[in-house]
Amino acid sequence: MAYPRNDGEPLGSVLLLPGDGIGPEVFREVRRVMDWFDRARGVSFELDEDLVGGAAYDQHGVPLADETLQKALDSDAVLFGAVGGPKYDDLPFDKKPERGLLALRKELGLFANLRPAKVFDALVSSSSLKPELVQGLDIMILRELTGGVYFGEPRGIETLPNGERRGVNTQVYTTSEIHRVAAVGFELARKRQGKVCSVEKANVMESGVLWRDEVQKLHDAQYADVELSHMYADNCAMQLVRQPKQFDVIVTDNLFGDLLSDCAAMLTGSLGMLPSASLGAAGPDGKRKAMYEPVHGSAPDITGQGIANPIAMLQSFSMMLRYSFDRDDDADLLDGAISSVLAGGLRTGDIMQEGMAKVSTSVMGETIIRELDKATST
Ligand code: NAD
Repeated sequence: MAYPRNDGEPLGSVLLLPGDGIGPEVFREVRRVMDWFDRARGVSFELDEDLVGGAAYDQHGVPLADETLQKALDSDAVLFGAVGGPKYDDLPFDKKPERGLLALRKELGLFANLRPAKVFDALVSSSSLKPELVQGLDIMILRELTGGVYFGEPRGIETLPNGERRGVNTQVYTTSEIHRVAAVGFELARKRQGKVCSVEKANVMESGVLWRDEVQKLHDAQYADVELSHMYADNCAMQLVRQPKQFDVIVTDNLFGDLLSDCAAMLTGSLGMLPSASLGAAGPDGKRKAMYEPVHGSAPDITGQGIANPIAMLQSFSMMLRYSFDRDDDADLLDGAISSVLAGGLRTGDIMQEGMAKVSTSVMGETIIRELDKATST
């Protein structure tokens, strides 16, 4: 295929954070794929690697060292594996591996979380929905990640004078918070099928009324070329399992996005197949801070067995090529190779089906690289 090579400088700087458990195992495969892109396509990066999560705690006594955070802040993108494990379960809250991940998201200002739900033809039968409903499904859930009810004040639990206890959380959004995430949604749609569905509960929540108004205003002012619709979150949950292919990009707040992205993800089959991206504000050079990571965790139950599915990690790299470095052709090439290998019948244990060949993490990685060779040799 006639994909243009990159024969210039490295595309940018990437910090690699493999983390714990199966993180380093799936990372070995993404490193091999990155080496392939360097060798065969001239797509290279200035790379640095560091510790995060439990691995960082073992070395430095904290899940994210200041120096590592600084490296992340200085990088164009962070590629992240997974953190956590039973060894760290009894640590105090601020030392837990997951705090390293949350600190990165917060300090990098990653307010937009992209969770694609894409069904590979070969895995149509792994979905809980009927094949005709999910065949060819490719939707993007965009969740606001740093605002809303998970962060709003006032919050807390208090004891009332009558002895009852009262728990409070507050849903808060400002126009700028809504505009910046909606803008990401419209820009994503322009690269996809040109449709955004904005989701809230304007029927019962004032913050939802504001959300709907502001998304519409931004659309009319700057993104009139994109088709915009609005939907209540409860209806969206229903539509996702009734007729998911009606959606292209869904943009929604932190709470609804948390629920709807998990719901959409399950249309696709396994956790081992789900990548994600989190984006921050664009800097003066137009580049956004960004972190790419599989949705799954460190999977302690299968760690060290060489059987983890590396595809979520590889697709996270593909998202990095697409959204941080504008290499859509290379991302398509990698997605295509993954799709071909699945169509050829290879499966890791988590996506195993009758009549297919069960392979290890490394064989899955190697076969995808062979497929990349094949796709570019004609
Ligand atoms: P998990 O995602 O690690 O595992 C859930 C199940 O899915 C397990 O049975 C696991 O074997 C399987 N699985 C996950 N990824 C797989 C892959 N690539 N290939 C094959 N099978 C896969 O979630 P969990 O068990 O709830 O959590 C384990 C640890 O990971 C905990 O410490 C948790 O806090 C942490 N965690 C980290 C992240 C992250 O780093 N982003 C996300 C979720 C959980």
